[in-house]
Amino acid sequence: MVRTTPPRPVDVVALFPALAAHARSTTRLHPRPGAPAATHSSVGGPLLWPADEPWPHCDDPHEDVSDPADPAAVRRRRAILDAAWRRTPRDEDLRITDAEQAEIDALEEAEAPELDGRPVAMVPVAQLYRRDTPGFIGPDGADLLQVLWCPLDHADLEYCPRVAVRWRRAADVATALDAPPEPLAADEHYLPVPCVVHPEPVVEYRYGGLLPEDLDGEIEEWEEEAEHSYQYDLSIAPGWKLGGFASWHLTDPYPMDCDDCGTPMELLLTAASSEWDGGSGSWRPVEDAAEPETDALFGPSEPTGVQIGRSYSLWVFYCPRSFDHPVKTAMQ
Ligand SMILES: [Zn+2]
Ligand SMILES: [Zn+2]
Repeated sequence: MVRTTPPRPVDVVALFPALAAHARSTTRLHPRPGAPAATHSSVGGPLLWPADEPWPHCDDPHEDVSDPADPAAVRRRRAILDAAWRRTPRDEDLRITDAEQAEIDALEEAEAPELDGRPVAMVPVAQLYRRDTPGFIGPDGADLLQVLWCPLDHADLEYCPRVAVRWRRAADVATALDAPPEPLAADEHYLPVPCVVHPEPVVEYRYGGLLPEDLDGEIEEWEEEAEHSYQYDLSIAPGWKLGGFASWHLTDPYPMDCDDCGTPMELLLTAASSEWDGGSGSWRPVEDAAEPETDALFGPSEPTGVQIGRSYSLWVFYCPRSFDHPVKTAMQ
């Protein structure tokens, strides 16, 4: 099923023609739980990875990590709870058997092995094929973007996962890796539920605080009387997306310049805690609004199980001068 963003509640460019110079296309990914294969675009699905290429690991000492979980235990607990949710009629208490509850209690008690400074295998976060993804971002020869992260907090990264990005040509993967190494331990909020994606291009407008001052002022004045918010309804799409504009509502904008060459960086990928928010929910796809919320553990508004901070997003930036320069992240 496709996912379709409803038209914006007002035509903001008709109101403020100068905004046309601050428009950009982004691709909402609309992840939903599923069973993607390595040959599919996905969030949290298997990556098409060359068997002879080392899998990325994180060498951070991970000294500040509190209470990490065993990834296998997280997945097992999610499977039990998801099955229970799906068999429970609406408005009833969760139908879970005593045996299932006992297993969940044991899984929650189970401790992850001590890291002892050992490197942690990264986990698949997103895989996007150029053929599936309008507005694909990557080197000319590449048709596959792969994003991974270390599923633990990192003190030097605002207590967020450490991200790694690869671009490749799918045809170059002669023999694909069967099963990647598992991390020894993980924060369960950084283990994405395997999701299929439904990429949809939409138009965004630059974050208000980065618009020319007079234009931003005009919009703020209009908002005082309007029923809609530029920030939440008209400018920047919530949820998982490729490209587009970053939002800086948490910290106010700060420069994201490439560590290698100083060039201002551009937004690559947004990993979001939820797919729509901000009061009106005006970004909820029409298909999801038409269907009743599925009674599953991970419904359409929070499909990936990923939680960044207090329901924030992780914004991954790339250097437009060279895809070889390192990516950077910000939490907003
Ligand atoms: Zn790490
Ligand atoms: Zn650079």
